[in-house]
Amino acid sequence: MKNKAADLKKILDTATMKRFWSNVDKSGGEDACWKWKLSLIPGGYGQFKLEKNNNYMAHSIALIIKLGRFPKGVTIHSCDKRDCVNPSHLREGSHQENMEDMFRKGRHYSQRTEKFTEFIENLRAEDKELLYNILCKQLHKTEKPEKKERQFGSMKGLVKNIADDFDAPVEDFKKHQ
Ligand SMILES: [Zn+2]
Repeated sequence: MKNKAADLKKILDTATMKRFWSNVDKSGGEDACWKWKLSLIPGGYGQFKLEKNNNYMAHSIALIIKLGRFPKGVTIHSCDKRDCVNPSHLREGSHQENMEDMFRKGRHYSQRTEKFTEFIENLRAEDKELLYNILCKQLHKTEKPEKKERQFGSMKGLVKNIADDFDAPVEDFKKHQ
């Protein structure tokens, strides 16, 4: 469990901020995406080590510095670049808003199955659930399936409705079957 008050103090400490910004590529100028130069976590977000065994997402730190407090809800990128830490590209938003944003991107990604699969795989369990509910709403399905079916697997059917070829075998592969 993180000690948020202590972490906030540490994040807003001048030395920490200096260390944080020294890992950011601002070469594109004020309006450009500021790329995180250190390690990225599998989802593509930057990672900042606040102290030993206490890591934060780099973009979250950038927003905390901008606000001077922890954001209410989640940190949303307006630029869609996960490794961007430019505070002017970051804002706080509700989880629902973030998921709707993700849904729009997901639909965009669904045109490229690989990317969409990666996108889904990188979601946290509760986000999958939320995305599922949003997909249900979008597809005008008022009924939810049985609890046991409300797993990721059942989302595939819904995804199929968006991208008809989502589950279709790749043409080249078919030839060898
Ligand atoms: Zn950006």
